[in-house]
Amino acid sequence: MSDCIFCKIARKELKSTIVLETEKLVAIKDINPQAPTHILIMPKAHYSTMNDCDDREILADMLDAAKKIARDLGIDKRGYRTVINTNSEGGQTVFHLHMHFMGGKPLAGRMG
Ligand code: 5GP
Ligand code: ZN
Repeated sequence: MSDCIFCKIARKELKSTIVLETEKLVAIKDINPQAPTHILIMPKAHYSTMNDCDDREILADMLDAAKKIARDLGIDKRGYRTVINTNSEGGQTVFHLHMHFMGGKPLAGRMG
């Protein structure tokens, strides 16, 4: 997907702050953070939404990345939130599969 912004970020054609990178995924700081820590974990391969991704391994890798980031930041015990928005009613605005990782403050409460 040549004109997808997250594909461009994954290919390093667009600038971002990378916090974790593996062969198949990248985790970057969100440009408009909604919490003290707000990271986006995404596959390097393009899937428009979670509905379009049948690769169980990359979905598991995204969850493993979240656990690692939480441990590395020392917030695994305090807690954090992981969210995948899908399509319009899910609030998805960038159509390249990504998981939000948010933490660093109490997030308990309404989910939307
Ligand atoms: P969605 O609404 O699709 O679940 O989440 C998209 C997220 O991507 C938003 O939180 C938004 O702030 C973030 N975002 C959009 N464009 C960019 C960008 O160019 N760079 C980074 N780092 N984050 C972006
Ligand atoms: Zn893409």
